[in-house]
Amino acid sequence: MLQDLHAHTYYSFCGGDAPEEVVKAAIAGGLHLFGFTDHSYGILYQSLSFFNLPENIEVQPDCIRTLRRYYDHINLIREAYKDQITILRGIEVCTWTGHGRHALPPEADISYFDYCLMENLDNPDSSIAGGDLFAFAERCGCKLGIAHTDLFAFIKALGEDPLSYLMKMKEHGIFWELNISHDSIHHYREHPYMLHFFEDEEQQALVRRSGVEISIGFDGHRVAEYPGDRVKCYCRRAEELGLRFAFEDLI
Ligand SMILES: [Zn+2]
Ligand SMILES: [Zn+2]
Repeated sequence: MLQDLHAHTYYSFCGGDAPEEVVKAAIAGGLHLFGFTDHSYGILYQSLSFFNLPENIEVQPDCIRTLRRYYDHINLIREAYKDQITILRGIEVCTWTGHGRHALPPEADISYFDYCLMENLDNPDSSIAGGDLFAFAERCGCKLGIAHTDLFAFIKALGEDPLSYLMKMKEHGIFWELNISHDSIHHYREHPYMLHFFEDEEQQALVRRSGVEISIGFDGHRVAEYPGDRVKCYCRRAEELGLRFAFEDLI
């Protein structure tokens, strides 16, 4: 399973390219499955000037139209390239409450997306930290993945048993992303939790035993820096460990 389920386009304030250019890079990289996950706040606010207005100025994004437009655009791309790659319509949602406009507004419906990646769980200001991940999954209404998070540290901080928690995630269809970003926008740092997981046989055994699915995500922001070989290499490593991939039944 050669997949990348984490990618940004110009819909995210930090992304630089049109979705079509991003797909071309994924196809050139030889991937089978590719997911777009633009930031919900980028999609909703559309412009940085709107997003960055002082907090005392109330700005009400048009949740229904903006999310639908993004979804429809990705859907067109999915149709256009369906003979070359399977594309998923995802979205990345911030659980950080430090800046009101990062959070997903309560009225925003994302249940029709193929999945949602949830980020910033390990931030002390995350609404999920010490809270209920499973209630958030219900609120999203689509399949949920945990993005760039040290899951074992997160479970430990909750005081939960790792295997039971992973099994509960499996029950709810929540997958865990192994984020392999390594590019200029992330200052060429690699996530220590991801590097650690590939060395830690105990963690690997727990994930295997629970049946919880993993995803590989490069978290790309610029097609010029897209390394198909790195993505493929990590997919193969995960495959060799006998891990289950999110959406593997689609390929
Ligand atoms: Zn993220
Ligand atoms: Zn991202």
